[in-house]
Amino acid sequence: MKKEDYKIHIIGAGVSGLVAAKVLEDNGYAPVIIEATERVGGRVKTDTVEGYQLDHGFQVLLTAYPAAQKYLDLEALELQSFLPGAAIFTKGQQKILGDPLRAISLLLPTLFSGIGTLSDKVKILRLNALLKKTTLTEIFAKPETTTYNYLLDFGFSKEMIATFFKPFFSGIFLEPALETSSRMFEFVYKMFGEGSAALPKGGIEAIPVQLKDTLKQTTFLFNTKVKTVEENKIILTDGTVLESHYTIIATEASGLISRLNNQQTQWKSCETLYFETNTKAISKPLIGLIADKDALVNNIFYHTSLKTKTSGSKELLSVTVVKDHELSPEALQTQVTKELKQLCGIDALRFIKHYSIPQALPKMDNLRYEMSPSATKLTAGIFLAGDTQLNGSLNAAMISGERAGLGVVEAIVGVV
Ligand SMILES: Cc1cc2nc3c(=O)[nH]c(=O)nc-3n(C[C@H](O)[C@H](O)[C@H](O)COP(=O)(O)OP(=O)(O)OC[C@H]3O[C@@H](n4cnc5c(N)ncnc54)[C@H](O)[C@@H]3O)c2cc1C
Repeated sequence: MKKEDYKIHIIGAGVSGLVAAKVLEDNGYAPVIIEATERVGGRVKTDTVEGYQLDHGFQVLLTAYPAAQKYLDLEALELQSFLPGAAIFTKGQQKILGDPLRAISLLLPTLFSGIGTLSDKVKILRLNALLKKTTLTEIFAKPETTTYNYLLDFGFSKEMIATFFKPFFSGIFLEPALETSSRMFEFVYKMFGEGSAALPKGGIEAIPVQLKDTLKQTTFLFNTKVKTVEENKIILTDGTVLESHYTIIATEASGLISRLNNQQTQWKSCETLYFETNTKAISKPLIGLIADKDALVNNIFYHTSLKTKTSGSKELLSVTVVKDHELSPEALQTQVTKELKQLCGIDALRFIKHYSIPQALPKMDNLRYEMSPSATKLTAGIFLAGDTQLNGSLNAAMISGERAGLGVVEAIVGVV
């Protein structure tokens, strides 16, 4: 059979599915992507509302991600970098904590922030040095503990953990207790240290859009939902049956394959509320962390402190909540507004939009960095991709897509 005659389907046009398509194209195949929604991106989407770019939840690209360097044209994304640090709101005051070696403007505020003891600052340097010389493979081979216990064992003071690590990493892991695996902590910390956190000028969705634009031989079926996947067969929710030599499931597979029914992923959720404001309470492009342990708000960010392709006439503030709560959307908005005023001195807000994301990041143990192409193979004709295979990150989504694409190539022609 000629390469172009193979019927290869990818379910899901998220980042993992798009990279799987790219790898298949690079090897001469012409896959079909089936996507339930109307566009690419999956969890990585941006809406434009009143000129403002609203990402579906606050997320950033870490430029040090090896897979981002391999699959993305970072320059064409016109990345806008955050300063390496945070504005911490604690006891009604704003304090700046940063990496003065990388952003000289943060030197003085960091030295005089009063956050953490001298011993904490020495330990930060030790952690930086340790992770610099540890490879990603070594990180993911280490025994796992919770991030909280890891930080205690490393010797950080409880105050340093409560004021900096907890709010910062809760916003990344999307859970307030730092129960996430220490492997993820070391991975993310290392990536922060070796590059910058950035947003494309056009918003986070520019990432999947760029991946889509590199695809020349791939066909997309949008607004098309798969009901079940069987060997060599895909059944859509409208009853259509598609013949498929190879199928890559680039989304959670348990709902699509009956024998995986009992392997449902557990998810971490979050909510992001966008507001328009007249002024910025944080002058530099720094994430704002709320260190008050009783607050619902975890972090804030003025998207207009970075350059954006389009903008409204004032400032755009995102507010992220990761704690569980029972509030209605209206009550949440009221509570958030109250906390912003009391804890950060921010008022005169105009509400724009609320995103509630019940399935934001997979809750996982035994996190992996990568897998071999053959390990993505579930059956002779079905392969699995998606961040749920490895760890909840854009890097993992890309690697999982790459390996599933290569898995299919190997199944056809042998190891490449
Ligand atoms: C709020 C939030 C913050 C995040 N922050 C960061 C961050 O700062 N840095 C970072 O690296 N990562 C972050 N992530 C994680 C990152 O976005 C994900 O790891 C990545 O996007 C997952 O891509 P994926 O392709 O595996 O899955 P998805 O993006 O979930 O794609 C799956 C696709 O499959 C489609 N689909 C599902 N079921 C079907 C079906 N039955 N038929 C057809 N199509 C179907 C879906 O519509 C979707 O488009 C964040 C995620 C969220 C939500």
